[in-house]
Amino acid sequence: FLSLSLQAKMSRPVQAQRLEGIDKNIWVEFVKLAATYSTVNLGQGFPDFPPPDFLKETFMRALSGENHMLHQYTRAFGHPPLVKILAQFFGKLLGRDLDPMTNVMVTVGAYQALFCCFQAFVDEGNEVIIIEPFFDCYEPMVKMAGGTPVFVPLRPKPPKDGKLASSADWQLDPAELASKFSERTKAIVLNSPNNPLGKVFSRGELELIADLCVKHDILCISDEVYEWLVYDGKEHIRIASLQGMWDRTVIIGSAGKTFSATGWKVGWTVGPNRLLQHLRTVHQNSVYHCATVAQEAVAQGFQRELELYGKPESYFVQLPKELQQKRDWLVQSLDAVGMKPIVPEGTYFLVADISEFKSDVPDVPDSDEPYDSRFAKWMIKNKGLAAIPLSAFYCGAHKNNYNHFIRFCFAKEEATLKAANNILQKWKREKTSP
Ligand code: PMP
Repeated sequence: FLSLSLQAKMSRPVQAQRLEGIDKNIWVEFVKLAATYSTVNLGQGFPDFPPPDFLKETFMRALSGENHMLHQYTRAFGHPPLVKILAQFFGKLLGRDLDPMTNVMVTVGAYQALFCCFQAFVDEGNEVIIIEPFFDCYEPMVKMAGGTPVFVPLRPKPPKDGKLASSADWQLDPAELASKFSERTKAIVLNSPNNPLGKVFSRGELELIADLCVKHDILCISDEVYEWLVYDGKEHIRIASLQGMWDRTVIIGSAGKTFSATGWKVGWTVGPNRLLQHLRTVHQNSVYHCATVAQEAVAQGFQRELELYGKPESYFVQLPKELQQKRDWLVQSLDAVGMKPIVPEGTYFLVADISEFKSDVPDVPDSDEPYDSRFAKWMIKNKGLAAIPLSAFYCGAHKNNYNHFIRFCFAKEEATLKAANNILQKWKREKTSP
């Protein structure tokens, strides 16, 4: 009996080796903290305002309309109306004819699109270049595919005298970037507009990356989920439109970000068939299929946007206009209390310098946890305000290089932003009163 029960208990590790070191996840931790301390939550990146009415209506029509087949499986690589309109829309943006069946694939959010790319392109021993700071899932996804992430940082230049810092001040060192490319390199991940900084890469910066990709025959995984969220008249340039890049680039997008409906989890990839055919292989052997009703609704949303393209009524024109106001509001609010903002050119994120607030949260020398992480946790618990430490967007070895910044999300109702402002003002008053 004893030997049987010993046998029944497994003593060897149950988890696959590729999970080693990737078990921690910043979002699981911070989402739980924010919920526990019922804070003003400017942490995780999602709007707390509703998606536009026209989009909700398309979803409801799809759900309750005559076509009951919308409740069943649709085409595995994308609901035909959605891939057709995406091909039309992105064809227009890229100035090229796109085939809906081979140049577009629908995914469960941009997240699954990324996962498909790494699984499809990265082999054991391949290197993938990631620009820091980066959307945190790139690193574990590369590792799960057996690849090695190679990091290259954006380096901040000091802002001009008397001016606020801008995400444009964070730049790649061209020599340093070039030094990361080798025969082992398979791909580079580009995320413009960039989460967390809000940097919108300039044409010059994109050309630098594109030239290196062409020279070394390397793929580009271009995460463009914030493509419509650019401010101050800046232009989002698609790297796939640069010389020699279409053939080696997968563009990734998200209806969650595009239409303020992150919970729908509709994403897509756009690119040449020679790349997308391999994404289809991963997709058909993993997720296989995405929710039909949500795809139908997003298809109709894009139909509307195609008709209104560039017009003031277009959601892709209105949303950035509204968000730019929210950005300016949060910039002012942070600047007024001395939490120096880095003004983002795009996205709905803003990174701020917490140096002047360090005296509130004592440093713990020799702690394994980066300072900004302890600061952000302290702020949630003691001030009821949630933000994400910037170190979460750096690899393990570099987490302490930039550990005095936190990231705020400003895709929030005015009331939420006001509540955040009140917390900051009160905090500042407490600091200055003896
Ligand atoms: N890429 C970036 C840069 C993101 O910020 C996010 C969401 N935070 C995603 C991809 C994932 O998008 P989705 O919700 O569509 O999966």
